[in-house]
Amino acid sequence: MKQLLYNANILTMNDNYDAYENGYLVIQDNVIQELGEGLPAGYHTYNEKYDCGQGILIPGMVNTHTHVGMIPFRSLADDVPNRLERFLFPLENRAMTADLAYASAKYAAAEMQLAGVTTCSDMYYFEDDIASAVKEMGSRAILAETIIKKSPDTTADYETLDYAEYFIQRWLEDDLITPGIAPHAPYTNSTESLQKAAAISHKYNVPIMMHVSEMEHEMVYYAEQYQMSPVAYLDSIGLLNNRFIAAHCIHLNSEDIQILKHNQVGVAHCIGANTKSAKGVAPVKELINQEVNVGLGTDGPSSGNTLDMFTQMRMVANFHKTYNRDRSAFAAQEIVGLATIGGARVLNMADEIGSLEVGKKADICLVETQSVNMFPVFDPYSALVYSANAGNVEAVWINGAQRVLQKQLAQHDLRTIRSDLDSSMSQFKVIVSEL
Ligand SMILES: [Zn+2]
Repeated sequence: MKQLLYNANILTMNDNYDAYENGYLVIQDNVIQELGEGLPAGYHTYNEKYDCGQGILIPGMVNTHTHVGMIPFRSLADDVPNRLERFLFPLENRAMTADLAYASAKYAAAEMQLAGVTTCSDMYYFEDDIASAVKEMGSRAILAETIIKKSPDTTADYETLDYAEYFIQRWLEDDLITPGIAPHAPYTNSTESLQKAAAISHKYNVPIMMHVSEMEHEMVYYAEQYQMSPVAYLDSIGLLNNRFIAAHCIHLNSEDIQILKHNQVGVAHCIGANTKSAKGVAPVKELINQEVNVGLGTDGPSSGNTLDMFTQMRMVANFHKTYNRDRSAFAAQEIVGLATIGGARVLNMADEIGSLEVGKKADICLVETQSVNMFPVFDPYSALVYSANAGNVEAVWINGAQRVLQKQLAQHDLRTIRSDLDSSMSQFKVIVSEL
Protein backbone atom coordinates (compact mmCIF):
# COMPACT_ATOMS: atom_id res chain seq x y z
CA MET A 1 0.00 0.00 0.00
CA LYS A 2 1.18 3.52 -0.83
CA GLN A 3 0.49 6.54 1.37
CA LEU A 4 1.30 10.15 0.59
CA LEU A 5 1.96 12.67 3.38
CA TYR A 6 2.12 16.24 2.04
CA ASN A 7 2.10 19.91 3.04
CA ALA A 8 4.65 19.20 5.78
CA ASN A 9 7.66 21.01 7.20
CA ILE A 10 9.96 17.99 7.02
CA LEU A 11 13.09 17.69 9.17
CA THR A 12 14.80 14.55 7.91
CA MET A 13 17.50 14.39 10.64
CA ASN A 14 19.85 12.80 8.10
CA ASP A 15 23.60 13.55 8.21
CA ASN A 16 23.11 16.87 6.38
CA TYR A 17 20.00 17.84 8.36
CA ASP A 18 18.15 18.16 5.03
CA ALA A 19 14.74 19.80 5.42
CA TYR A 20 11.79 20.47 3.11
CA GLU A 21 9.68 23.44 4.07
CA ASN A 22 6.72 22.40 1.93
CA GLY A 23 7.56 18.75 1.75
CA TYR A 24 6.03 15.40 0.90
CA LEU A 25 6.85 11.86 1.88
CA VAL A 26 5.69 8.60 0.28
CA ILE A 27 5.31 5.42 2.34
CA GLN A 28 5.32 2.13 0.45
CA ASP A 29 4.11 -0.62 2.77
CA ASN A 30 6.34 -0.09 5.83
CA VAL A 31 9.19 1.81 4.21
CA ILE A 32 9.88 5.43 3.16
CA GLN A 33 9.98 5.28 -0.63
CA GLU A 34 10.42 8.91 -1.58
CA LEU A 35 10.48 12.39 -0.07
CA GLY A 36 11.13 15.93 -1.26
CA GLU A 37 9.82 19.43 -1.83
CA GLY A 38 6.32 20.04 -3.23
CA LEU A 39 4.42 17.01 -4.49
CA PRO A 40 5.51 13.81 -6.21
CA ALA A 41 4.71 13.10 -9.87
CA GLY A 42 1.28 11.54 -10.23
CA TYR A 43 0.26 12.58 -6.71
CA HIS A 44 -3.44 12.57 -7.62
CA THR A 45 -3.29 8.78 -8.20
CA TYR A 46 -2.56 8.03 -4.51
CA ASN A 47 -5.64 6.73 -2.74
CA GLU A 48 -4.19 7.34 0.75
CA LYS A 49 -3.35 11.03 1.13
CA TYR A 50 -2.68 12.85 4.40
CA ASP A 51 -2.56 16.65 4.56
CA CYS A 52 -0.01 17.52 7.26
CA GLY A 53 -1.35 21.09 7.52
CA GLN A 54 2.15 22.63 7.50
CA GLY A 55 2.98 20.76 10.68
CA ILE A 56 6.53 19.62 11.49
CA LEU A 57 7.26 16.09 10.30
CA ILE A 58 10.12 14.34 12.10
CA PRO A 59 11.33 10.78 12.57
CA GLY A 60 9.46 8.89 15.29
CA MET A 61 11.26 9.61 18.53
CA VAL A 62 13.35 7.00 20.37
CA ASN A 63 13.12 6.49 24.12
CA THR A 64 16.37 4.66 24.90
CA HIS A 65 15.59 3.73 28.49
CA THR A 66 12.33 3.03 30.24
CA HIS A 67 10.38 0.50 32.30
CA VAL A 68 6.96 0.15 30.66
CA GLY A 69 5.68 -2.13 33.42
CA MET A 70 5.91 0.65 36.00
CA ILE A 71 2.96 2.92 35.17
CA PRO A 72 1.29 1.87 38.49
CA PHE A 73 4.15 3.52 40.39
CA ARG A 74 3.73 6.97 38.85
CA SER A 75 3.40 9.78 41.42
CA LEU A 76 3.97 7.38 44.30
CA ALA A 77 6.34 8.64 47.02
CA ASP A 78 8.03 10.95 44.54
CA ASP A 79 9.89 13.06 47.09
CA VAL A 80 10.75 10.31 49.57
CA PRO A 81 14.46 9.58 50.11
CA ASN A 82 15.57 5.99 49.51
CA ARG A 83 12.38 5.33 47.55
CA LEU A 84 13.87 2.40 45.59
CA GLU A 85 14.42 0.22 48.67
CA ARG A 86 11.46 1.55 50.65
CA PHE A 87 8.73 1.43 48.04
CA LEU A 88 9.75 0.11 44.63
CA PHE A 89 11.50 -3.16 45.43
CA PRO A 90 8.91 -4.26 48.09
CA LEU A 91 5.99 -3.37 45.84
CA GLU A 92 7.49 -5.16 42.87
CA ASN A 93 8.05 -8.26 44.96
CA ARG A 94 4.58 -8.28 46.53
CA ALA A 95 2.31 -6.80 43.89
CA MET A 96 3.79 -7.06 40.42
CA THR A 97 2.17 -9.77 38.30
CA ALA A 98 2.17 -10.76 34.66
CA ASP A 99 -1.32 -9.28 34.21
CA LEU A 100 -0.33 -5.97 35.76
CA ALA A 101 2.87 -5.76 33.69
CA TYR A 102 0.86 -6.49 30.54
CA ALA A 103 -1.81 -3.85 31.28
CA SER A 104 0.87 -1.32 32.22
CA ALA A 105 2.86 -1.97 29.04
CA LYS A 106 -0.21 -1.39 26.89
CA TYR A 107 -0.85 1.91 28.63
CA ALA A 108 2.81 2.94 28.32
CA ALA A 109 2.89 2.07 24.62
CA ALA A 110 -0.26 4.16 24.09
CA GLU A 111 1.23 7.05 26.05
CA MET A 112 4.43 6.95 24.02
CA GLN A 113 2.61 6.73 20.68
CA LEU A 114 0.48 9.75 21.61
CA ALA A 115 3.74 11.59 22.37
CA GLY A 116 5.42 10.66 19.08
CA VAL A 117 7.71 7.99 20.53
CA THR A 118 7.75 5.08 18.08
CA THR A 119 10.61 3.02 19.55
CA CYS A 120 11.53 2.34 23.15
CA SER A 121 14.15 0.33 24.93
CA ASP A 122 12.73 -1.36 28.00
CA MET A 123 13.96 -3.40 30.91
CA TYR A 124 11.56 -5.02 33.31
CA TYR A 125 10.09 -8.35 34.45
CA PHE A 126 7.46 -10.50 32.71
CA GLU A 127 8.91 -9.32 29.40
CA ASP A 128 7.08 -12.03 27.45
CA ASP A 129 3.76 -10.48 28.56
CA ILE A 130 5.14 -7.00 27.95
CA ALA A 131 6.19 -8.03 24.43
CA SER A 132 2.64 -9.26 23.71
CA ALA A 133 1.25 -5.90 24.87
CA VAL A 134 3.72 -3.77 22.92
CA LYS A 135 3.23 -5.90 19.80
CA GLU A 136 -0.54 -5.57 20.11
CA MET A 137 -0.14 -1.78 20.22
CA GLY A 138 2.14 -1.87 17.16
CA SER A 139 5.15 -0.10 18.69
CA ARG A 140 8.77 -0.89 17.92
CA ALA A 141 10.83 -1.86 20.95
CA ILE A 142 13.86 -3.48 22.42
CA LEU A 143 12.52 -5.43 25.39
CA ALA A 144 14.90 -6.99 27.86
CA GLU A 145 14.23 -9.17 30.87
CA THR A 146 15.84 -7.83 34.02
CA ILE A 147 18.48 -9.98 35.69
CA ILE A 148 18.64 -9.48 39.44
CA LYS A 149 19.17 -11.82 42.38
CA LYS A 150 15.51 -11.87 43.47
CA SER A 151 12.90 -10.98 40.87
CA PRO A 152 9.09 -10.83 41.07
CA ASP A 153 8.61 -13.32 38.23
CA THR A 154 10.86 -16.15 39.48
CA THR A 155 11.72 -17.90 42.74
CA ALA A 156 15.39 -18.99 42.70
CA ASP A 157 18.35 -16.56 42.68
CA TYR A 158 19.07 -15.23 39.18
CA GLU A 159 16.43 -17.52 37.72
CA THR A 160 15.53 -14.79 35.24
CA LEU A 161 18.65 -15.82 33.30
CA ASP A 162 16.70 -18.89 32.14
CA TYR A 163 13.56 -16.87 31.55
CA ALA A 164 15.56 -14.32 29.54
CA GLU A 165 16.93 -16.98 27.21
CA TYR A 166 13.46 -18.47 26.70
CA PHE A 167 12.08 -14.99 26.01
CA ILE A 168 14.83 -14.16 23.50
CA GLN A 169 14.23 -17.40 21.60
CA ARG A 170 10.51 -16.65 21.37
CA TRP A 171 10.85 -13.13 19.97
CA LEU A 172 14.11 -13.31 18.00
CA GLU A 173 12.46 -13.22 14.58
CA ASP A 174 9.81 -10.56 15.26
CA ASP A 175 9.70 -7.53 12.96
CA LEU A 176 8.84 -4.98 15.70
CA ILE A 177 10.18 -6.50 18.92
CA THR A 178 13.91 -7.00 19.47
CA PRO A 179 14.46 -9.13 22.58
CA GLY A 180 17.43 -8.44 24.83
CA ILE A 181 18.79 -9.05 28.31
CA ALA A 182 19.16 -6.51 31.12
CA PRO A 183 21.24 -7.09 34.24
CA HIS A 184 19.65 -4.51 36.57
CA ALA A 185 22.95 -2.93 37.65
CA PRO A 186 26.48 -4.08 38.45
CA TYR A 187 25.82 -3.80 42.21
CA THR A 188 22.61 -5.91 42.11
CA ASN A 189 24.33 -8.76 40.26
CA SER A 190 27.21 -11.14 40.90
CA THR A 191 30.16 -11.19 38.51
CA GLU A 192 28.97 -14.64 37.47
CA SER A 193 25.39 -13.54 36.67
CA LEU A 194 26.72 -10.57 34.69
CA GLN A 195 28.97 -12.82 32.65
CA LYS A 196 26.16 -15.31 32.06
CA ALA A 197 23.93 -12.49 30.80
CA ALA A 198 26.72 -11.29 28.51
CA ALA A 199 27.13 -14.82 27.15
CA ILE A 200 23.39 -14.98 26.32
CA SER A 201 23.60 -11.56 24.60
CA HIS A 202 26.58 -12.83 22.58
CA LYS A 203 24.98 -16.19 21.74
CA TYR A 204 21.87 -14.60 20.20
CA ASN A 205 23.52 -11.32 19.12
CA VAL A 206 20.93 -9.28 21.05
CA PRO A 207 21.23 -6.05 23.07
CA ILE A 208 22.34 -6.02 26.69
CA MET A 209 21.35 -3.04 28.83
CA MET A 210 22.11 -1.99 32.37
CA HIS A 211 21.93 0.91 34.84
CA VAL A 212 25.54 2.05 35.11
CA SER A 213 27.29 4.62 37.35
CA GLU A 214 23.97 5.94 38.58
CA MET A 215 24.22 5.69 42.36
CA GLU A 216 26.66 7.30 44.78
CA HIS A 217 26.80 4.08 46.84
CA GLU A 218 27.64 2.19 43.65
CA MET A 219 30.65 4.44 43.07
CA VAL A 220 31.84 4.06 46.69
CA TYR A 221 31.39 0.27 46.59
CA TYR A 222 33.48 -0.25 43.43
CA ALA A 223 36.15 2.18 44.60
CA GLU A 224 36.51 0.37 47.94
CA GLN A 225 36.02 -3.19 46.73
CA TYR A 226 37.84 -3.12 43.39
CA GLN A 227 39.71 0.23 43.40
CA MET A 228 38.01 1.05 40.13
CA SER A 229 34.87 2.61 38.69
CA PRO A 230 31.82 0.51 37.74
CA VAL A 231 32.62 1.13 34.05
CA ALA A 232 36.21 -0.09 34.50
CA TYR A 233 34.93 -3.08 36.46
CA LEU A 234 32.44 -4.01 33.71
CA ASP A 235 35.23 -3.69 31.16
CA SER A 236 37.54 -5.86 33.26
CA ILE A 237 35.02 -8.72 33.31
CA GLY A 238 34.36 -8.50 29.56
CA LEU A 239 30.84 -7.06 29.63
CA LEU A 240 31.23 -4.05 27.34
CA ASN A 241 30.74 -4.11 23.57
CA ASN A 242 28.68 -2.40 20.86
CA ARG A 243 25.51 -4.29 21.90
CA PHE A 244 25.72 -2.71 25.37
CA ILE A 245 23.29 0.11 26.26
CA ALA A 246 24.36 1.90 29.45
CA ALA A 247 21.61 3.87 31.16
CA HIS A 248 22.43 6.99 33.22
CA CYS A 249 26.28 7.12 33.32
CA ILE A 250 26.08 10.10 35.66
CA HIS A 251 29.39 9.59 37.44
CA LEU A 252 32.05 9.13 34.76
CA ASN A 253 35.73 10.03 34.78
CA SER A 254 37.74 10.64 31.62
CA GLU A 255 39.06 7.07 31.64
CA ASP A 256 35.46 5.75 31.78
CA ILE A 257 34.57 7.83 28.72
CA GLN A 258 37.52 6.34 26.83
CA ILE A 259 36.43 2.82 27.85
CA LEU A 260 32.86 3.49 26.62
CA LYS A 261 34.22 4.92 23.37
CA HIS A 262 36.67 2.06 22.83
CA ASN A 263 33.90 -0.54 23.33
CA GLN A 264 31.33 1.43 21.30
CA VAL A 265 28.87 1.40 24.19
CA GLY A 266 25.71 3.49 23.70
CA VAL A 267 24.58 5.78 26.52
CA ALA A 268 20.92 6.36 27.46
CA HIS A 269 20.88 9.81 29.04
CA CYS A 270 17.96 10.22 31.47
CA ILE A 271 18.18 13.88 32.44
CA GLY A 272 14.67 14.09 33.92
CA ALA A 273 15.00 11.10 36.22
CA ASN A 274 18.59 11.92 37.19
CA THR A 275 17.85 15.48 38.23
CA LYS A 276 14.50 14.75 39.90
CA SER A 277 16.30 12.30 42.19
CA ALA A 278 19.16 14.77 42.75
CA LYS A 279 21.68 12.23 41.47
CA GLY A 280 23.51 14.58 39.13
CA VAL A 281 24.02 15.55 35.51
CA ALA A 282 25.88 13.16 33.20
CA PRO A 283 28.85 14.60 31.27
CA VAL A 284 27.05 14.45 27.93
CA LYS A 285 29.13 17.11 26.22
CA GLU A 286 32.32 15.19 26.98
CA LEU A 287 30.71 11.94 25.75
CA ILE A 288 29.61 13.55 22.49
CA ASN A 289 33.02 15.21 22.03
CA GLN A 290 34.56 11.75 22.29
CA GLU A 291 32.04 10.42 19.73
CA VAL A 292 30.24 8.16 22.19
CA ASN A 293 26.65 7.60 20.96
CA VAL A 294 24.13 9.28 23.25
CA GLY A 295 20.33 9.08 23.15
CA LEU A 296 17.61 10.27 25.51
CA GLY A 297 15.63 8.15 27.92
CA THR A 298 12.76 8.88 30.28
CA ASP A 299 13.54 6.07 32.71
CA GLY A 300 10.43 4.49 34.25
CA PRO A 301 7.20 6.39 34.90
CA SER A 302 8.08 6.39 38.60
CA SER A 303 11.52 7.92 38.11
CA GLY A 304 10.82 10.39 35.31
CA ASN A 305 7.00 10.55 35.46
CA THR A 306 6.63 11.22 31.73
CA LEU A 307 7.47 8.92 28.84
CA ASP A 308 7.81 11.69 26.26
CA MET A 309 10.86 13.15 24.59
CA PHE A 310 9.67 16.78 24.53
CA THR A 311 10.14 16.98 28.29
CA GLN A 312 13.58 15.38 28.00
CA MET A 313 14.65 17.66 25.15
CA ARG A 314 13.74 20.78 27.11
CA MET A 315 15.57 19.54 30.19
CA VAL A 316 18.65 18.65 28.15
CA ALA A 317 18.73 22.23 26.90
CA ASN A 318 18.17 23.81 30.30
CA PHE A 319 20.46 21.62 32.38
CA HIS A 320 23.35 21.24 29.95
CA LYS A 321 23.48 24.90 28.96
CA THR A 322 23.61 25.75 32.66
CA TYR A 323 26.03 22.91 33.50
CA ASN A 324 28.40 24.12 30.75
CA ARG A 325 27.71 27.84 31.43
CA ASP A 326 27.20 28.20 27.67
CA ARG A 327 24.01 29.41 26.04
CA SER A 328 25.16 28.23 22.62
CA ALA A 329 25.89 24.67 23.78
CA PHE A 330 23.33 22.01 22.82
CA ALA A 331 21.59 23.87 19.99
CA ALA A 332 17.99 22.81 19.34
CA GLN A 333 18.92 20.95 16.15
CA GLU A 334 21.44 18.83 18.05
CA ILE A 335 18.91 18.08 20.79
CA VAL A 336 16.27 16.92 18.29
CA GLY A 337 19.06 14.72 16.92
CA LEU A 338 19.58 13.14 20.37
CA ALA A 339 15.85 12.30 20.56
CA THR A 340 15.78 10.70 17.10
CA ILE A 341 18.87 9.51 15.20
CA GLY A 342 21.06 9.64 18.32
CA GLY A 343 18.72 7.24 20.10
CA ALA A 344 18.62 4.98 17.05
CA ARG A 345 22.44 4.81 17.07
CA VAL A 346 22.49 3.92 20.78
CA LEU A 347 20.13 1.03 20.04
CA ASN A 348 22.14 -0.04 16.95
CA MET A 349 19.05 0.59 14.83
CA ALA A 350 20.21 3.61 12.82
CA ASP A 351 20.19 1.63 9.57
CA GLU A 352 16.43 1.23 9.96
CA ILE A 353 15.06 4.16 11.97
CA GLY A 354 15.95 7.55 13.47
CA SER A 355 15.83 9.68 10.30
CA LEU A 356 13.47 10.22 7.39
CA GLU A 357 15.42 8.72 4.50
CA VAL A 358 14.54 6.57 1.50
CA GLY A 359 14.65 2.91 2.45
CA LYS A 360 14.25 3.44 6.20
CA LYS A 361 11.24 2.16 8.13
CA ALA A 362 8.26 4.51 8.06
CA ASP A 363 8.35 5.55 11.75
CA ILE A 364 7.12 9.13 11.59
CA CYS A 365 5.76 11.82 13.92
CA LEU A 366 3.74 14.88 12.89
CA VAL A 367 3.77 17.83 15.31
CA GLU A 368 1.04 20.37 14.60
CA THR A 369 1.76 24.10 14.74
CA GLN A 370 -1.79 25.40 15.10
CA SER A 371 -2.06 25.26 18.92
CA VAL A 372 -1.65 28.40 20.97
CA ASN A 373 1.83 27.45 22.21
CA MET A 374 3.20 26.90 18.69
CA PHE A 375 3.12 30.39 17.15
CA PRO A 376 5.23 31.70 15.56
CA VAL A 377 7.71 29.16 14.22
CA PHE A 378 10.90 30.92 13.14
CA ASP A 379 12.94 27.77 13.62
CA PRO A 380 11.21 24.37 13.65
CA TYR A 381 13.96 22.76 15.76
CA SER A 382 13.57 25.48 18.40
CA ALA A 383 9.80 25.09 18.26
CA LEU A 384 10.17 21.35 18.98
CA VAL A 385 12.59 21.81 21.89
CA TYR A 386 11.31 25.01 23.54
CA SER A 387 7.65 25.47 22.51
CA ALA A 388 6.16 22.03 21.88
CA ASN A 389 4.86 19.42 24.27
CA ALA A 390 3.51 15.92 23.77
CA GLY A 391 0.01 17.35 23.33
CA ASN A 392 1.08 18.83 19.99
CA VAL A 393 1.60 15.39 18.42
CA GLU A 394 -1.06 15.19 15.73
CA ALA A 395 -0.28 11.92 13.94
CA VAL A 396 2.11 8.99 14.19
CA TRP A 397 3.04 6.15 11.87
CA ILE A 398 4.99 3.09 12.97
CA ASN A 399 6.31 0.62 10.43
CA GLY A 400 4.01 2.29 7.88
CA ALA A 401 0.82 1.87 9.95
CA GLN A 402 -0.92 4.97 11.26
CA ARG A 403 -1.10 4.62 15.05
CA VAL A 404 -2.17 8.15 16.02
CA LEU A 405 -4.70 10.20 14.09
CA GLN A 406 -5.96 13.63 15.20
CA LYS A 407 -4.25 13.19 18.58
CA GLN A 408 -6.10 9.94 19.30
CA LEU A 409 -5.04 6.31 19.07
CA ALA A 410 -6.08 5.14 15.61
CA GLN A 411 -6.81 1.49 16.46
CA HIS A 412 -7.30 1.43 20.23
CA ASP A 413 -9.45 3.14 22.83
CA LEU A 414 -7.35 4.81 25.53
CA ARG A 415 -10.25 4.76 28.02
CA THR A 416 -10.43 0.97 27.78
CA ILE A 417 -6.65 0.59 28.14
CA ARG A 418 -6.78 2.84 31.19
CA SER A 419 -9.72 1.09 32.88
CA ASP A 420 -8.08 -2.32 32.23
CA LEU A 421 -4.94 -1.06 33.95
CA ASP A 422 -6.94 0.40 36.82
CA SER A 423 -8.70 -2.96 37.36
CA SER A 424 -5.33 -4.77 37.36
CA MET A 425 -4.07 -2.40 40.07
CA SER A 426 -6.51 -3.37 42.84
CA GLN A 427 -4.06 -5.56 44.81
CA PHE A 428 -1.27 -3.09 44.12
CA LYS A 429 -3.32 -0.28 45.69
CA VAL A 430 -4.06 -2.38 48.79
CA ILE A 431 -0.36 -2.98 49.34
CA VAL A 432 0.45 0.70 48.77
CA SER A 433 -2.00 1.59 51.54
CA GLU A 434 -0.13 -0.76 53.90
CA LEU A 435 3.35 0.64 53.25
ZN1 LIG B 1 15.91 2.58 34.76
